[in-house]
Parts: sequence; C-alpha cells; structure tokens
Amino acid sequence: MYLKSLELTGFKSFAKKTELSFNTPITSIVGPNGSGKSNTAEAFRFVLGEQSIKSMRGKRTEDLIWNGSPEVGRSNRASVKLMFDNRKRLLNLDVDEVTIERVIYRDSGSEYMVNGSPVRLRDIVELLAGAHIGASGHHIISQGEADRILNANMRERREMIEDALGLKIFEWKREESERKLLKTEENMKQVASLRREIAPHISFLKKQVEKIEKTKQLKEELRGLYLDYLKREHTYITESKRKISEEESAPKAELADLEQKLSASKKILEETHGADAKTQAIIAVEERLGSLRRERESLSRDIGRLEGEIASAERMKSATELTKVSEALIPISEVESIAKEVEEAFQTEDIGLLKRALETVKHALSGLLDKYRQKKNPSLEGFEREILSLREKKQEAEKKLSDIQSSEREVSEDEKKLRLDIEREKDSSRDAEKDVFRIMARQNELHGTLNALRVRLSELLHLEGDFKRELTEGILLVGRELIEFENVKIKNQNEEEIQPSEFLREERSVQEERRRKVEKLKIRIEDAGGGSGAEVLKEFAEATERDQFLARELADLEKGAETLKQLIAELSLKLDEEFREGILKINKEFQNYFSLMFGGGSAKLSVAKPEKKVRREMDDLLASEEGVSIPEEEEKETGIDIEVNLPRKKIKGLMMLSGGERALTSIALLFAMSQVKPPPFIILDETDAALDEANSKKYGDMVENLSKHSQLILITHNRETMSRAGVIYGVTMDKSGVSKLLSIAFDEAVAVAK
Ligand code: ATP
Repeated sequence: MYLKSLELTGFKSFAKKTELSFNTPITSIVGPNGSGKSNTAEAFRFVLGEQSIKSMRGKRTEDLIWNGSPEVGRSNRASVKLMFDNRKRLLNLDVDEVTIERVIYRDSGSEYMVNGSPVRLRDIVELLAGAHIGASGHHIISQGEADRILNANMRERREMIEDALGLKIFEWKREESERKLLKTEENMKQVASLRREIAPHISFLKKQVEKIEKTKQLKEELRGLYLDYLKREHTYITESKRKISEEESAPKAELADLEQKLSASKKILEETHGADAKTQAIIAVEERLGSLRRERESLSRDIGRLEGEIASAERMKSATELTKVSEALIPISEVESIAKEVEEAFQTEDIGLLKRALETVKHALSGLLDKYRQKKNPSLEGFEREILSLREKKQEAEKKLSDIQSSEREVSEDEKKLRLDIEREKDSSRDAEKDVFRIMARQNELHGTLNALRVRLSELLHLEGDFKRELTEGILLVGRELIEFENVKIKNQNEEEIQPSEFLREERSVQEERRRKVEKLKIRIEDAGGGSGAEVLKEFAEATERDQFLARELADLEKGAETLKQLIAELSLKLDEEFREGILKINKEFQNYFSLMFGGGSAKLSVAKPEKKVRREMDDLLASEEGVSIPEEEEKETGIDIEVNLPRKKIKGLMMLSGGERALTSIALLFAMSQVKPPPFIILDETDAALDEANSKKYGDMVENLSKHSQLILITHNRETMSRAGVIYGVTMDKSGVSKLLSIAFDEAVAVAK
C-alpha cells in the first residue's frame, strides 16, 4: 500500500482540517448527495497538480477554497496534503515517507511542497510520473466520467493509454528532447547567423592582416637591406673622410711651409727697394766725381796758368832787369783764356760749384790785375814778390789739387762699392722673385689639390646628410634596431666577414644599386599599405577567436542536436514498441473483463491511423487570419480505436451501446488498463452508479481483483461495492455546509449512503 492519508483544509466544502487515512486496499467513501464525497476525489486531483479548474468543477481557483457559510466564515487558503508510504521507493526520493502538498490563496497562485520544501509543479509531475501516477488522471475517474475514455477522441485515448502504460514519462522525455532540439536548432540558427554576420568583417580583417603580414615581411627584408646599406654607407663615409683628412695633411703642411718661404722671399724683394737709394747715391757720387773732376781740371788749369804767370813774371823780371815798362799790355789770348775759363766754370747749376766758379773768376781777374798793375809799376822787387805770390798760389792750388784728387779717389772708391752692392742686390732679388713665382705656382697647385679634396669632402658631407636622413626614415619604417647597424657583420657568399676596408674598394655604383633596391622596397611597402596595424591584428585575433568560439559552439550544438535526435528516435521507438506491446496486453485483459461483464462478445483496441489529417487549431486560425496556407500536418502518431462486439447482438461500434453497456465497456477497459500496469492507487467516483445488481457483483469481484495491485478508493452509493471495502468513511454535511468525515461500520455505511 502506498497511500497513507489525505488531509484537506479549506478545500471546497472541507472548511476544517479533515484527514482520511488509507490503510486498507479498498477504502469506500459514502454519504448522502451533496455531502462532499466528490470533493475528496477532486482533492486528489488537486494535490497531484491538476491544472484544469473545470475538471474540479470550478471556474476560478478561488472556487476551490471554502467559500464560507453563515456559520463558518470563508477561508482564504485551501490546502491538500497527500502522504505516501515510500518504503518501497515508489517515488524517486530516498525517504520512507513523502508528503506532497498544494496550497492556494484567493489572491495568488499555487504553491507546491514536497516534504515541506517548496518545489515547482514540474517537479511534482515528474516525481509522480516516475511512480506511474499520470497527469491524465486515468486512475481518477470522476463522477459521470466512467465512459470518458469511450467519448474521447483517438488521440486523447492514446494519451490515456500511454499514461496507463507508464509511457508518459518517455513521452515527456521525448517532448522535452524535442523542445530542447528546437531550442538547439534555434541556437544553431542564431550562431550560424552570427557567424555569417561577422564573416565579411573577418574576411575584411583577414585581408588587412595579410597586408600587414606582407608589409611585415617586406619590412623584415628592408631591415636586412638597410643594415647592409647603412653599414656600408657609414663605413664608406667615415673612411673616405678619414682618408681626405689624411690626404689634406701633407699639402696643408707644405702650404704652411711655403707661406713662410713666400714671406721670406717677399721680404727679400721688399729689401731690393733700397737699390733706388743706392742708385741715387751713385748719381750723387757721380755728380760729385764730375765736380771734383772739373775742380781738378780748373786747378790744373790754374796751376798751368800760374806756372805760365810765374814763367812770364820771371821773364818780366828778367826783362825788367833789362828794361822799364810803363804800361802793361794785356795780350788778347790771356783775356780769351779767362773768358773761356769763366764760361766753363759756369756750366753747372750746382750752387756750390757756381760759388766756386765765381771764386775762380774773381781769382782770375785779380791775378790779371795784379799781373798788369805790377807791369804799370814794374820793378824787380815787384816781379819777385809776384813770382813768390804766384808760387804760393801755385803751391796752394797744387795742395788743393792733391786734396781734390784724393777726394776723387775716395768718391770713386765709394761709387765702385755702390755699384757692386747694387749688382749684388739685383742678383738676390731675382732669386727671390723666382722663388715667389715658384712658391705661388706650387701654392696654386696645392690649393687646387686641397680644393679637390674639399669638393670631395663636401660631397661626403652631403652623403652624410643623406645617410642621417635615411637612418631616421629607416628607423621610422622598420624600427629602432637599425641604430645597431654598426654592429652588423657583413658577410660574403662564403659566409666570411667582409672587412670595412674592402667596402671602399667596391664600385660606388654597387652601393647606389643597393640604395635603389631600398627605395623600391620602400615603395612596395607603401603600396602594400599595411601599416603596423596592431589594432587590426588585435581585432582580427578577437574576431577569429569569436568565430572559432562560435564554430565550436555550433559544433557542440550540432553534436547536441544529433544526440537529441538520436534520443528522440530511441524514445519514439521505445514508445512505439511499448505502446504496441501494451495495447496487446490491454487487449487481452479487455477481452477478459468484457466477456466477464457481458458474458461473452469481444472487445479490443486497435491502433489506427487517423482518418483525416489533423491540423492544429492554432494553425487554422493563423492560416485564416493571415491568408497563409499552412501545410496540413500528418499526425505523427497513431490513435486508438475501440471495437466492441456484444454477445448475441449484432451491434458494433460504441455509438450503439446503451448507457449501462457503455459503463460496463469503459469499466472493462479501465480495469484492463489498470491490470496491465497497475497504478499505486485508483479512485473511482460512482463508476458503479449505472450497474444493476448482477453487474454490481461482477464489478465488486473485479474491484477486489484490482485491489491486489492498486489501492482503491471508491466513492459509492452501491451496497455491493461498499461491502468490499476494508474502511468506510462517511461524509456528512450539516446545515453549516461543512463536510465532516467519520469512519463507520458497513451497516452504518449502508444507512449513511442512503
Ligand atoms: P453526490 O452524492 O450527489 O454526488 P457528493 O457527496 O459527491 O454528492 P459533492 O459534489 O462532493 O457531493 O459536494 C458538493 C457540495 O460541496 C455542494 O453542496 C457544494 O455547495 C459544496 N461546495 C463545493 N465547493 C464549495 C466551496 N468552495 N465552499 C463551500 N462549499 C462548497
């Protein structure tokens, strides 16, 4: 036995807390009409999670709550508690006793509890399904619903039978799997659409990344070229500069030396300007010599004249000694001689000489006067005095002459010396001049050399400027590591290091070709236009990662969907198999019960394809509202048909049965269903109402038979049925409208039931 008790508080007519214990296989609930018996059956439905208020004879939830009477005020809360004996682990919970409780309030929804802990309705449904207590309520037959299974359509019937066969759990699992599959497929669509959405972006980014990588590769190539080029260029420039400064040093030193020599030579040349003075001196000396010569000649003439005068005086003296002379006659020759002398003496402009000339004239004239005055007064003594004076004069003149001659010698000596000096100076000046010309020529040559070197240097400086610009540009383009270009080892084809000195031997055009290569590569990099693209790379990585994540998710979803499809297929197969097997078993029992009830005949369920294709009502509605044609859906599963053949009657089909026959047939079917897979309990609310006495007996037998497997709660007015019960509860209702419960004996029960 699984059911222990049912406790109703505020539920429908059970205003007060009322407890029914079920400790016998068959419990009967009896009582007068309207006392509240059916409310107990509905309490079972209620606590097991029934969602249809209508099936509990209400319109709204609050119809299920004690509504009050003049004597007893209404409740705001209704609760029903069902207690299971779970020692056999009927319910999948590891406790010996399980209480399921449902509570409703006027102003809010339902609360469910299992052993006092709040749970969801779904948890209740699953818990019960595991115990073969289905939601279709095939084991709770309400009043007047005995032939519900006969009235139901094929699909509903199938559901009831599935429920009775305990297949509902698989059905739910399948539905759940289908829901999950649907959800999974939706997710798959979403993921696929997300992937489709980001695909163009990824492919755009991919192209960008390819460009960036291409640029990176080109830059790497450029870096190699640059390092080689820069190292060579730098070495070429520094080495060339060094060489130039080396080459400059000799000419510079020579120039410095030449400068000294040049100034020395110039000094010599300057000094030769003194030659003019010497020439002047020579002129002066020569003039002086001329005047001395003239003086000498004049003196010589004076001396000659004095000698003549002396001779003449001596002759006069001697004549006087012979004759007296009164008058002196001055021979014309003497006057002409004096005139000539005067003329000669005055052929100079030199003042000194003129003065002397005047002296000479004065002297000549006084001599002439003296000579002829004495002649006026000739006397011997006079002649003697004259001769003496003449001789003195002559002596004086001779002394002068000798002085002049020595002066003349001296001056001539000076002149000679001067001329020698001039000659000597002329020689050294010529040499200096030659030197100056030679030095200047050499200087020009050297300046030419230095200029050529300077031109080369300025070319190199120009190259150096280019080099620096190139280095800066290179660093910007390929990175700071270019600064390390000097540490780069340049190798030849045999992987041997090339020494810097070798670079200089190389043709410059080879290096220019390298430069052209660098330029070409730079243009290619610019054309590739990748940039450093850190952002793009990051974005691409992120986008790809996301895409991969989505792809993985999609794969997972596909896998999940596959698993679900498989599960659904398996469940469908299982359902199908179990269903068919179940039908066979039910049919066997159905036939038994049927022939038992009717004393023969035959009855069976048949699995039938529905005659018409079924459309969901909603689909029809949508189709009509939107003008959309929805393809008719083939009902996936088969329905259940019931075939009956009453003994001795030629009627077939349910439609033709009488009320009693219908009741019997459905009881036979219900019992058959319960027999195949017995539920833990069955509640039958006046299922026996339509039975005559004979059939009541049969019903009683069947009930007893059924109670071996399922606990039975029978609401009945039927005496026969009551007689089979171990416990009978009587339900009464006084004028307060509250149902009351009492455990009564069979006889009492018969009385109460009436
Ligand atoms: P019968 O033998 O005629 O089938 P019964 O014993 O099965 O009768 P029920 O149908 O269970 O009687 O009980 C119906 C009674 O319960 C009615 O009198 C009705 O007024 C009462 N009832 C139903 N709902 C409520 C409610 N919410 N509050 C108070 N009373 C209620």
